[in-house]
Amino acid sequence: MSLRSFADRETHFRIVPSGSPPSVDGLAITEPKFIECTECEARVRIDGPDGHQTTIDNLPHDRDCPQRDVVSQYYRDQFVR
Ligand SMILES: [Zn+2]
Repeated sequence: MSLRSFADRETHFRIVPSGSPPSVDGLAITEPKFIECTECEARVRIDGPDGHQTTIDNLPHDRDCPQRDVVSQYYRDQFVR
C-alpha cells in the first residue's frame, strides 16, 4: 500500500472559497470554505470557528478516484507507522 501526502506536488486539491455572503455561512465571499478533490470533486468543509477537526482524510472520494490514497501527514503519523 502506498500513501501519498496532501503536500506532495503531484496531488491535486483546491481550496474553494465561500462564494456567499457572511449572512449565509458566517464566511466572507472569498474566505476558504472547502477543500475539494480535483479528480472526483469530493468536498470537505474546512474548520470553522466551532473548531472541530476536518482534514483531507475525511474527503468522501468516489470509489474509483485516483486520489483515494492521499492522506495528511497527521494521518500518516498516527496510523501508518
Ligand atoms: Zn477524489
